[in-house]
Amino acid sequence: MGTLDGTVALVTGASSGIGEAAALALAERGAAVAVAARRGDRLADLAGRITTAGGRALVIEADITQREQAEAAVSRTVQELGRLDTLVNNAGVMLLGPVADAPVEEWERMVSINVLGLLYCAKAALPHLLTAATEAPRQVADMVNISSVAGRVARSGSGVYNATKHAVGAFSEALRQEVTGRFVRISLVEPGAVATELAGHNRPEVRDTIAQRFEGVERLQAEDIADAIAYIVTRPRHAAINEMLVRPTQQQG
Ligand code: NDP
Repeated sequence: MGTLDGTVALVTGASSGIGEAAALALAERGAAVAVAARRGDRLADLAGRITTAGGRALVIEADITQREQAEAAVSRTVQELGRLDTLVNNAGVMLLGPVADAPVEEWERMVSINVLGLLYCAKAALPHLLTAATEAPRQVADMVNISSVAGRVARSGSGVYNATKHAVGAFSEALRQEVTGRFVRISLVEPGAVATELAGHNRPEVRDTIAQRFEGVERLQAEDIADAIAYIVTRPRHAAINEMLVRPTQQQG
């Protein structure tokens, strides 16, 4: 018996990287997992792996920047899997580069996914998490918001990404104070460099800069962050991990 047996989780951005690994980690511990993102083929493959291993998965194709789709992702999870104990707010993009040269469309994408999309999912999930914390056997529920080292430390060349991830941190702390007395734990995870598709969405010159910055650094694997998420959501009811900063050992800043 895993420690999440009987619980239901929704993971956004589950079609690759950290979200995919988190969905697998939660399913391994017994949670039924709704996996949301835009690439339905990737989600179907992931759901297949979860069910083959004896778990339960629900594929939700959704663009979380569209408020109705974010809300529908939450309501479908509750309708089809029965309730919601855990939201992993993970979907995000990182489009770096100097402010002066930036295509403003990149900023709009980051703000709409990293901030607005996360807020839509958080708001839609909250009543269900509060219900789970009072009515479900565990009497506690979790929202894990994925920020970044960039949510703690601002750097030249990351300005708008820094702004979106600092927003995630500020929102998480305010929401934590609002609901922690009712046993909904709000946690912030701040990864350093993880080997995923994330940096690949940048313009070629920006990709080169990122590659130079992390040259010779053995990056984290998505499973390392999934492990942190699984640790957070399996704590006993009286213990809340508010924040977790996880860097590759060799990453300095
Ligand atoms: P990936 O690019 O592998 O994953 C990003 C996920 O977000 C994908 O599943 C993607 O799915 C989903 N996504 C993007 N846009 C949307 C959208 N509009 N609606 C729904 N889903 C969307 O990167 P990571 O796994 O690395 O990133 C996950 C999180 O971790 C992000 O918030 C990122 O900022 C954070 N992070 C990552 C670090 C790293 O070094 N990799 C370091 C610090 C933080 P699809 O395209 O199918 O919609």
